[in-house]
Amino acid sequence: MKIAFLALQGDFAEHKQSFASLGCECVELRQKKDLEQDLDALVLPGGESTVQGKLLRDLKMLEPLKEKIVSGLPVMATCAGVILLAEKLVEDETIHFGVLSVHVRRNAYGRQLSSFYIRGNFGNLQNIPMSFIRAPRIEFCAPGTELLSEHEGRITAVRQGNILGMTFHPELTEDNRVSRYFLEQIVQPWRDSRKECV
Ligand code: GLN
Repeated sequence: MKIAFLALQGDFAEHKQSFASLGCECVELRQKKDLEQDLDALVLPGGESTVQGKLLRDLKMLEPLKEKIVSGLPVMATCAGVILLAEKLVEDETIHFGVLSVHVRRNAYGRQLSSFYIRGNFGNLQNIPMSFIRAPRIEFCAPGTELLSEHEGRITAVRQGNILGMTFHPELTEDNRVSRYFLEQIVQPWRDSRKECV
């Protein structure tokens, strides 16, 4: 499977390592022409959403990537990646891709708690390492959204169709079960359905 990593800023290298450990071919997206290849999935890493959003626009990558996402390309987004995907940011007019029906508040955990580490459940997976680093908070999601993880009563991971989004980082340890979940639950079925159409 060929997995693409938005590699403009942020922790794409850690995501790459996780997917490489699962035997995937990993490619970095750094400029518009990198989008011309056939891809099985896209990973949007954590980092700084304002910087990533600006670079996506400056490099003219925002619209073509959005088209791919809207046409069904599987996407896994962590932290800043969820901010890029959100249809609305709370008390902020910015919209980047605007394709995920969630409302997200940036830097929502108070100063003292701005970064913390827990282990929690994700769908049927237990004891998943989760680092929250100046994390956003999902304050609303559309009815029908699959909720995969929560922390202290707040939603921290969702799936809407081809999109898997989480406000924490699962990729900072060697535990690759969330990446595997994405491959098995979203990427592989999408690949299979495309084969049937050919
Ligand atoms: N605070 C960052 C932002 O607003 C997100 C932090 C992260 O990705 N770990 O973009």
